[in-house]
Amino acid sequence: MRVLNTIKDIRTITKEARRNGKSIGFIPTMGYLHEGHLSLVKKAREENDLVIVSIFVNPTQFGPGEDFDSYPRDLERDSKLVEDVGADIVFSPSVKEIYPSGCSTYVDTDGDITKRLCGASRPGHFKGVTTIVTKLFNIITPDRAYFGQKDAQQVAVIEQMVRDLCMDVDIVSCPIVREEDGLAMSSRNTYLGEEERKAAIILSKALSSAEEVIKEGERDASKVSELIVNKINSQPLSKIDYVEIVCDKTLEAIEEIKGGILIALAVKIGRTRLIDNVRLEVL
Ligand code: AMP
Repeated sequence: MRVLNTIKDIRTITKEARRNGKSIGFIPTMGYLHEGHLSLVKKAREENDLVIVSIFVNPTQFGPGEDFDSYPRDLERDSKLVEDVGADIVFSPSVKEIYPSGCSTYVDTDGDITKRLCGASRPGHFKGVTTIVTKLFNIITPDRAYFGQKDAQQVAVIEQMVRDLCMDVDIVSCPIVREEDGLAMSSRNTYLGEEERKAAIILSKALSSAEEVIKEGERDASKVSELIVNKINSQPLSKIDYVEIVCDKTLEAIEEIKGGILIALAVKIGRTRLIDNVRLEVL
């Protein structure tokens, strides 16, 4: 496996692959990898000739006062992990390589899809995401790109962008990988202290309770939201950012639980902001 840092070097590889009719699978990440990321790499390995993982902590998707500087980084460890699951190339550019001075073009998906949920509490976040993903797609020219359902809104926004800009890439959405106790894996889990780590299971617990009452027949979205809010608030270390029940395609709020729904939440445990969600098909 090779680690490349420049656009020129990666293009030499991808052009050669294209000439030889090889398919390219791509997994964009910000590094500090865990089994969630690796599940995407494994899936890409099954479906493509060449598997490229990018590791880039993208400054434009962090707001002022967010954790860009403290975001965990360990390229050596990450490279070993992706090599073990069969990746061919790690692309790990510098910020300057991706955003050279004078760079002034951004991709911004407009509308509710980027304004709601995480978009409401992190203004500008999705503009940073769509810009970096566009740049990486242009550099790597993947046939398929793999994203985790953990960031459900991100998947919806990327799908919208790909449709709107006629990008020739298939977006593959992969299930959430969880720790044994239910906590969704995240690079940010490393910020949690011992007590906070225990407290953090309240997110998946609240989602499971919601799923259960829906299975038992509850169809009133506000009642289910209330149940989730009460459950999370019963954990003293938690502070809710949002709890939303939305249509899984448009991300618009719903009143009646019916069809494809997404229950999404963002909660601060101490100073660490965590997200989680569950997607259900309700008759
Ligand atoms: P990140 O490094 O946080 O930007 O994540 C890179 C990719 O890995 C994104 O598509 C995430 O949705 C995905 N990912 C992160 N955590 C998980 C998880 N627990 N299960 C599945 N995919 C994940």
